[in-house]
Amino acid sequence: MRRLGCKEVADAVMADIQKGCSGLRRMPGLAVILVSHDAASETYVRKKEESAIALGFEHRQYTLPETSSEEELLSLIDTLNCDDAIDGILVQLPLPGHINEKRVIERISADKDVDGFSPVNAGRLMIGEDSFVPCTPKGVMHILSYYGIETAGKNVTVIGRSNIVGKPMAALLMQRGVDATVTVCNTKTKDLKEHTLISDIIIVAAGAPGTIDQSYVKDGAVVIDVGVNRIPDSTKKKGFRLVGDVDYQSFENRDVSITPVPGGVGVMTVAMLMENTFISARRRQGL
Ligand code: NAP
Repeated sequence: MRRLGCKEVADAVMADIQKGCSGLRRMPGLAVILVSHDAASETYVRKKEESAIALGFEHRQYTLPETSSEEELLSLIDTLNCDDAIDGILVQLPLPGHINEKRVIERISADKDVDGFSPVNAGRLMIGEDSFVPCTPKGVMHILSYYGIETAGKNVTVIGRSNIVGKPMAALLMQRGVDATVTVCNTKTKDLKEHTLISDIIIVAAGAPGTIDQSYVKDGAVVIDVGVNRIPDSTKKKGFRLVGDVDYQSFENRDVSITPVPGGVGVMTVAMLMENTFISARRRQGL
């Protein structure tokens, strides 16, 4: 098994952004809004903050009470949409149940939607136009490119069809120039192995540990594990450990390349958010 570590890939992206920032008139500005205070969301927001600060971005964190109304959140987004120092607005998902996620995402101006979740950016991606590409699938494309993994003419199976991972992932792989032959699976897929066993690349974004093990994968294939799952573990200080969707151990003696969790796609997601914010700043400065 070959481990495709992603920290070095993310570090290379961050170094490029840092270099690029020297050509800007003003540093990129990122606003992160947190409403739902679950532990995972707080961790993700903290990692984004650390990266933004490390790059010298203008970083603003808005932590709203969970009881905040949808109107309050929309009004904050309206203010940030008009704030010239802010190039990217990110609302950490999920939101509390009383807030309509779709309305919130749609309210973010398309040219500051650095998560790429708005219908405008999703539509642009689908038709191959310049858009903000959602960070996780964009990060996966970087990993493939960094490791020189060919996509043209390859069979790729994406497990999962969410709007934030599976669908944009498939859209990217289908683009002209990437040229993969893509299969997208969901929980109604009759026989997952029928698809994975003929795949050169398998991208697993199911949100369930052990979704695939080595018996699903042919020799020489590449497996990208997007899943992040918390497993209770009393031996850990935090009381849990992170695992992906792939049974990593089962691949030990196999000729398969695979991204680990942690240290895999997750670190790329944060780096891609920084890259999207940098791209937005450059565009908004007419560069
Ligand atoms: P999601 O919205 O729950 O979607 C999961 C998708 O996987 C659904 O489409 C589901 O099918 C499909 N699925 C689940 N089990 C399956 C199975 N056994 N066979 C085939 N399809 C199956 O999750 P998500 O937001 O896309 O996230 C997926 C995972 O990635 C989660 O673990 C999440 O934490 C992780 N994630 C990681 C990052 C990162 O930065 N590393 C970023 C985002 C998400 P149905 O549509 O039929 O239900």
